[in-house]
Amino acid sequence: MNIDSIKNGYVLDHITAGKAMKIYELLELNKLECQIAIITNARSNKYGRKDMIKIDKLIDIDLDIIGYIDPRTTICIVKNDKIIEKKTLSKPKELINVVSCKNPRCITSVERSLDQVFILKENDKYRCKYCETILEQE
Ligand SMILES: [Zn+2]
Repeated sequence: MNIDSIKNGYVLDHITAGKAMKIYELLELNKLECQIAIITNARSNKYGRKDMIKIDKLIDIDLDIIGYIDPRTTICIVKNDKIIEKKTLSKPKELINVVSCKNPRCITSVERSLDQVFILKENDKYRCKYCETILEQE
């Protein structure tokens, strides 16, 4: 599958090599019925190696999730065989219900109805809004 085979959909490009599966998981792309191609370790002039994901449908994508996993990713939106828009990402200021707090004493582990909220701090790390536990990103 090459880019030409996507009529309407997305190409997620310049993903850091090794992170495509994480994006696939958190975006829950396995729940889609459209064609999805994951390319790992593709050659990149800019970065040496990169991953790519091609999605053959214009679904709603949560850009915050991608920005959280890998802000380097470029999102190309394809309509009628043409790239009509390229989006670059940055780390979202807040992560809401993307990941859960690992602290067993956090209020969110008791109050299941609470949103999981992490706030981006100056040191580029996320902290739980409730208990301030630092989110470790692999
Ligand atoms: Zn917490």
